[in-house]
Amino acid sequence: AGFFEHVAFAPLDAIFELTKDYNADTSEHKVNLGQGTYKDGNGEPWVLPAVQGAKEKIRDANHEYLPILGLPSFRHLATKLVLGDSGPAVTEQRVASCQTLSGTGALHLAGLVLYEALGPSCTVYITEPTWSNHRQVFEAIGFYVQSYRYYDEATGKLDVASLEQTFEAAAPGSIFVMHACAHNPSGCDPTQEQWRRLATIAKSRKLFPLFDAAYLGITSGDYDADAFAIRHFVNEAGLEAAICTSFAKNMGLYGERVGLVNFITQTSAAATAVESKLAQLTRVEISNPPAFGARIVAAVLGDAELCAEWFRNLSTMSGRIAEMRQQLYDALVRLKAPGDWERIIQQKGMFCILGLPLDRVLQLKSKRLELSPSPWISILILFT
Ligand code: PLP
Repeated sequence: AGFFEHVAFAPLDAIFELTKDYNADTSEHKVNLGQGTYKDGNGEPWVLPAVQGAKEKIRDANHEYLPILGLPSFRHLATKLVLGDSGPAVTEQRVASCQTLSGTGALHLAGLVLYEALGPSCTVYITEPTWSNHRQVFEAIGFYVQSYRYYDEATGKLDVASLEQTFEAAAPGSIFVMHACAHNPSGCDPTQEQWRRLATIAKSRKLFPLFDAAYLGITSGDYDADAFAIRHFVNEAGLEAAICTSFAKNMGLYGERVGLVNFITQTSAAATAVESKLAQLTRVEISNPPAFGARIVAAVLGDAELCAEWFRNLSTMSGRIAEMRQQLYDALVRLKAPGDWERIIQQKGMFCILGLPLDRVLQLKSKRLELSPSPWISILILFT
């Protein structure tokens, strides 16, 4: 027998399979309700004008290796972007940073450091539901992963009681993977008041918050507002934390794989030590990260005009997403589709749990409505 006869076929990734089905579908009226990638009014990918401007600025860059921890200007500017310019963690140099292979690479690297620092017996808590990759990223490292109820299907809202109870009951040293904003897939986030309360519990219970920050700026159109939870936990509540930032969605740099992991520690010496670990783990895995995407982000953040343009681009994207939600909601109400569709306009970000039963979802995916004059009508016919 060959060396690989005992290898079992690993299940295919549901989200990427759905994208494959979508691409293969020849219907003119198809709508991609799967993978979270922003499209413009014509259904096309959008290269942000700020990114276009940055690409012109870095046109003559060479192709040498970056340092192991990544492009220094990118790390510096992106860290200040996420944590704010004047927060104590940044000014007291208690922040470790490392460029990563987008948000996923940041989560994996953060998990590897935490596995060493907090020990293999600590539990990683993830929300139910959550982004489909969370469980397997942390299980692959060796962690025990526990999910808890985050979303109340009956109301279409956050189950804040369950969230608080789980925080209260978790053992000290437990890791909580929190979506910094625009929770995927529920679109429900704690309010600022609820975040404050969670930070208080996390502090008294000695929990470790890990923020998955894939949608900063693209959620409300206001970067600072979207970074509230992170900055509150780190700057106001003074907690140690890990932050896994992606520039896939908010700069439209999906395929460039540009992200950042930050660890906020109690002392500057601990940050230096953690950063050395990040460098060692990066050297082992990828030696050093790719340059192009990091150069783009640094060029945007380092130039006042391009940065102002980016902030405008963020509000264009978040505004269009909100408008699409409103149009769908209005049409469902106008056509008297049975059901309560408020959640479509209440939930934030790229995702929404419609609460449709599975058979309806499968119909929505496969039924061809060639004669429909618009994709909304196709959806409405299935909703009703
Ligand atoms: N975290 C969440 C919640 C996401 O929705 C995504 C992408 O969809 C990611 C992380 C990671 O994305 P990427 O690795 O492309 O930055």
